[in-house]
Amino acid sequence: MSSPAIQFGKDPKRVNIDDDPTDPKKLVVDNHEFWVSKKNKEVAEWFCKRNHNHGANPPCFTVKFDKAMGSPFESVSFSSDNNGHASSDKINVEPDDSKIYEYRVQAPGKDDLDPGGGVRQ
Ligand SMILES: [Zn+2]
Repeated sequence: MSSPAIQFGKDPKRVNIDDDPTDPKKLVVDNHEFWVSKKNKEVAEWFCKRNHNHGANPPCFTVKFDKAMGSPFESVSFSSDNNGHASSDKINVEPDDSKIYEYRVQAPGKDDLDPGGGVRQ
């Protein structure tokens, strides 16, 4: 057994989205690179942590894998529910520790944010 090239965090498939405290037009995420395991059939999860009523004007955010690399999942976009939560669907690509799928986080009145994610074994 060879050791993995990348050290993965405790819960790397989870991404929390919040307001940028320094700029009202911007969002921040606490995880700029999620990792989901194909073998374990993991899904990526996004959570809105903004201090507002998530259900008042849904969706809080939409995640879109519409950049050059496309989507590692069956769907291209995922929107949050009334609890400010979104999950990806099934992984649709082969695992590759060197591939980062850049995506967009879009929310009304906010600039797009462009974090990324990848698929591991
Ligand atoms: Zn929200």
